[in-house]
Formats: sequence, C-alpha cells, structure tokens
Amino acid sequence: MTIATPLKAQPKASHFIDGDYVEDNTGTPFESIFPATGEVIAKLHAATPAIVERAIASAKRAQKEWAAMSPMARGRILKRAADIMRERNDALSTLETLDTGKPIQETIVADPTSGADAFEFFGGIAPSALNGDYIPLGGDFAYTKRVPLGVCVGIGAWNYPQQIACWKAAPALVAGNAMVFKPSENTPLGALKIAEILIEAGLPKGLFNVIQGDRDTGPLLVNHPDVAKVSLTGSVPTGRKVAAAAAGHLKHVTMELGGKSPMIVFDDADIESAVGGAMLGNFYSSGQVCSNGTRVFVQKKAKARFLENLKSRTEAMILGDPLDYATHLGPLVSKAQQEKVLSYIEKGKADGATLITGGGIPNNVPGEGAYVQPTVFADVTDDMTIAREEIFGPVMCVLDFEDEDEVLARANATEFGLAGGVFTADLARAHRVVDRLEAGTLWINTYNLCPVEIPFGGSKQSGFGRENSAAALEHYSELKTVYVSTGKVDAPY
Ligand code: NAD
Repeated sequence: MTIATPLKAQPKASHFIDGDYVEDNTGTPFESIFPATGEVIAKLHAATPAIVERAIASAKRAQKEWAAMSPMARGRILKRAADIMRERNDALSTLETLDTGKPIQETIVADPTSGADAFEFFGGIAPSALNGDYIPLGGDFAYTKRVPLGVCVGIGAWNYPQQIACWKAAPALVAGNAMVFKPSENTPLGALKIAEILIEAGLPKGLFNVIQGDRDTGPLLVNHPDVAKVSLTGSVPTGRKVAAAAAGHLKHVTMELGGKSPMIVFDDADIESAVGGAMLGNFYSSGQVCSNGTRVFVQKKAKARFLENLKSRTEAMILGDPLDYATHLGPLVSKAQQEKVLSYIEKGKADGATLITGGGIPNNVPGEGAYVQPTVFADVTDDMTIAREEIFGPVMCVLDFEDEDEVLARANATEFGLAGGVFTADLARAHRVVDRLEAGTLWINTYNLCPVEIPFGGSKQSGFGRENSAAALEHYSELKTVYVSTGKVDAPY
C-alpha cells in the first residue's frame, strides 16, 4: 500500500471567535494526525477557560440582533453558505479526508455536500417553518410565537465532522440562536472552515464560534450559565455525563448517541441488494457510523447465499490511500480506535464466532496507519460481546434466525435504539417489522440513507431530540404564548 504524503493542513489558529481566528498558546497543545500514515498535519491548542468565556460572550452579544432579523433574511445567509460549500467541495472534502482518514470517494459525495444540504434546506424553510398559531377563543384570542433559546452549544464526534457541525448549526442559526461548536479533538479542522464560510456568506460575527478541546473542555461549555442548550453527537457514556451536567442547570439537550442497530434479511429478499446494504451499513467510513446495522440477522434459508456473496464482495474491496479516488476503505480515525476495534475482533474469535473474512490489520500498512480489514463474523450469538457492544469499526456480525417473532424479540433486546432495517420482498411484512422495531430511524430495502428532509435520531439509550427536517427546529426554539383580551377584566372582587 503506498500513500502520498499529505498536504499540511495547519489552520491560521486553533479557534474561530467573533468572526476571526484566535490563538491562545497557553492552552494544552495537541496534534491533528492523518490517520492513514500517522503524520502530523496540524498543531493546535485546546481552549483555555478564557477562550471559552470569549466564545460564549461573543455569541451572547451577537444573538439578540440576529434573533430580531426576519427568518427570511437569516435563511438567505445560510443558502449563500450552502453555495460556497458546494463551490469548495473539492478542497473541503480533501480536508475532511485528511482530518478523518475517510476515503475521498466518500467525502466528495457525503460530507461537505451533506452540510451544504442542511444550510440550503433550513435556509429555504426558514420563512415558513417558524410561524406560530392563532387560537380563537370566542372574542378573545391567543397566538404563539416560536422564539430562539439563545446561545446553543454543539459538541461533535469525529466520524462526520463537517456534516455534524452543519447539521447542528443550520437549524440553530435559522431559528435565531447563536452557536459555539466544539469539534472532536480527533478532527479539529473542518468546523473552522465552516465558520470562515459562514462569515463570507454574510453571517454576523459571533454567531458561529468554534473552539477546540476534549473531554476537559466540553464541561466548561455545558456548565456555563449563559448556555441555553447543548446538542451532543457522541457515545452513550459521554451522553450520560453531558445530559446529567445539563440537567443540573435545566438546559435543553439533544443527544445523538451510539447504537448497535439490527438489519434483518428475510429469505425472500433480493440478496444482492441486502448484501450491498449490509456492506454499506458496516464498512462505509470504515464502519464508524452511529446508525450502522452491525447486527445482521439473516434468515437461515438465505444464510449460505448471503455469506457467499458477502465474502467475495468484501474481499474485492480496495483498501488504500484515502486520497486516491479508487479507494473504498481508509483507516480508522486513530491508532486508539484501531486498537479498540482489533480487541473486539479478538473477543469475537475467542467467543467462538466464525471468521468469514478479514480479522486483522491488512498487509503493507505504511507508518502508523490505523487500518483494519473489513471483517465478517458469522454464527454470532446474542450473548457475544461483539453482538452487544458498539464496536465502531468495519466489523459485521451475522446472526441466524428462523422466524419473524423470534427475530424481532432478539433485535429489540438491546439498550440502544438508534436505527434498524429490513430487507424482504413482502412489503406487508416490511411495514409490520419496522412498526415493531424499537428505534428512531428505520429503512426498508435500503440502509443508512439520511437526506436532510427526514428526521434523524434515536430512542432508548441512543438519545433524544431529532436532527434534520423541520422537526429539528422544535429542538432549537420554544413556544411563547400570548393571550389577548378584547373586553374588560371580569373580576369577582
Ligand atoms: P465521544 O463520546 O468520545 O466524544 C464525543 C464528543 O464529546 C467529543 O467532542 C468529546 O471531546 C466530547 N466530550 C467527551 N466527554 C465530554 C464531557 N464530559 N462533556 C462534554 N463533552 C465531552 O464520541 P466519539 O468517540 O467522538 O464518537 C463516536 C461515538 O459517537 C459513537 O458512539 C457513535 O455512535 C456516536 N455518534 C452518534 C451519532 C448520532 O447521530 N447518533 C453520529 C455520530 C457518532
């Protein structure tokens, strides 16, 4: 495997506050690593408490005037930002590939473009989606207004850094809020470019600030008294901590957390399609996708056909330089994540699952590349660790089942409830199955498609609140009700 030396991606400074780059060299230094080779592509500093204060104060200052603008005017700025993102798709996608290690074949179609879709969608619906109601009361009447929350904090995971920043910023800004965004410490670069683009599109300064840092920095934002809402994309353990901290101040929260989602393949399904769905739902972004269908339940009569097709297609995947357009599978985000995934693979082997393909580090990985082979285990049982815990790597577990009731009971026997899918030619059964699956986002005869028009989010321990679609605006605003009397006050005293 040969990998081109990456371009350096050093930003002008670590943070973006009040319309400009800001540095504070007293913050803890950290490096941004290109995970395909382990090379350092940027050096940054985590935010100090002074930087956090500055970011929140600037957001608070800017928000009042922004909230007083018409939704149409706010939306127009976001739509301009969408256009700029599309014009710069090549550069933004290259940066996203350097930041995450995800192949350019993916980032060019799924990352900045998905962020641009969010800006375009929320910019477009702004003039009509924030209306209130008129409530006739027989002479008197009332009306409602949808008002912003104030300063919102966004905290991102490392798998879709630019998309996550935009999915949070777009509804927050259109609803009249300001946002302070903290990307994951593993992928600090993309959000800074989005902040630059928003300013270029005409967003008043201070409304989208980016600060860097890790699990020590996040709580400074979550606990800040001037923050009204926190939207986190991250793991369940982090979600518990952030929700608990936010509850101490009764802040609004949106939690987009992890999963161990079921994908159910009945024996009447189009097997070619089901295998394609299972591969996309386990190997895309090296398996680092929260909604992945990592428990693939295959009805026994289809098992041999499914595994044969899956094995040959998996072994034909091209692993390599993520900057090469031919590459299907890049590295994981970091050496730490690689080690975690490899240890799950070892647990799978030790627990007696049948290794169909993969199962380790590919040959000829350059330098400190964080690669893991696309791995398929069959004969996985419900009690195995690999069937219960989120691995967040390219590891697919195939489980057998006999009938519909059995598979539904087993699919739902998890604390997670992010997503799920079913492949079958029987559409009545498909609707019955998704009706009974306990999850927030479900697919029939496809997997993992998340256009901005549809709500996305989880149930059970996978979180609450929804991103995308008009539903997201409800999570970045609240109702104000006004009762209007048209007569005299009728008091008994
Ligand atoms: P993580 O939970 O380790 O970190 C997420 C973010 O939270 C990071 O920015 C981190 O710095 C910050 N953080 C950590 N501790 C914090 C604290 N105490 N207070 C405030 N902030 C804190 O997650 P990760 O490893 O970056 O991402 C992978 C996880 O994210 C997986 O579980 C995945 O399923 C989940 N995820 C969910 C979605 C979704 O939409 N549901 C999308 C992508 C990823």
